[in-house]
This record gives sequence, structure tokens and C-alpha cells, in this order.
Amino acid sequence: MAAACIFCKIIKGDIPSMKIFESDKTFAFLDISPLSKGHALVIPKFHGAKLHDIPDDQLHEILPVAKKIALAVGAEDYNILQNNGRIAHQVVDHAHFHIIPKPNEKEGLSIGWPAE
Ligand code: 5GP
Repeated sequence: MAAACIFCKIIKGDIPSMKIFESDKTFAFLDISPLSKGHALVIPKFHGAKLHDIPDDQLHEILPVAKKIALAVGAEDYNILQNNGRIAHQVVDHAHFHIIPKPNEKEGLSIGWPAE
């Protein structure tokens, strides 16, 4: 845990979030500024800024949880994204994985990533 980290504060419950999943190593919640309906974040509870800062044994659940979330929100098409560093569009320095459903054309939404 890092005292100043917003995602550590979300894990602790000091900042409210729309929690989707929690285990001893993993936490998932809805993104506060969703790029599409159901945009979620899956994070290791272990604090590290970038993917390579997280020990392997803290990462095992991430993709299985991301997969379950994609299924749960009914996303046929979706992106799983993980940004490391400012040039790569990382804003929050606690490693995280985005699950971004891609709405179908009927819903009239088409959101690209990253936004340039
Ligand atoms: P990044 O660009 O670092 O990969 O993405 C960080 C994500 O965290 C952004 O999509 C942003 O909307 C989300 N985010 C930032 N602060 C909060 C917060 O306080 N609560 C939630 N739920 N999401 C946040």
C-alpha cells in the first residue's frame, strides 16, 4: 500500500468505488470516466507503478478476472489495455488493466483508444 496512491485508497475503501470483484490479491471496479458502458479496471492489491514492479505471484488472477468481467457485462468485443508510463498514457501510478467493452453499432457508440 502507498499512502498517496488513489487506487490503494480505493482498495482500502477510503475512496468510494463501484466494486466488481475482490480477493486477497486482486481488486476490480468500474472506471470513474468510462470510455464505454462497463469500462472496468482490474488491479493487483500490491502497490507498484508499472507492470514490471508487480511480483508474478500477484498477477495470476488478473486475466481470469478480466475475462469474467467481459463476460459479465456481455461484451462481445472488447479491449484489455495496460498502460505503463506517461508516454504510454498511464495517469495513475498503480499498475492496472482496463477492460473496455466496444459497443455495437446499434447502440450508436464508437469510442477509440487511445484518444489522440
Ligand atoms: P491510465 O490512463 O492510468 O491507464 O488510466 C487510469 C484510469 O483510472 C482512467 O481511466 C481514470 O478514469 C481512472 N480513474 C482515475 N481516478 C479514479 C478514481 O478515483 N476512481 C475510479 N473508479 N477510476 C479512476
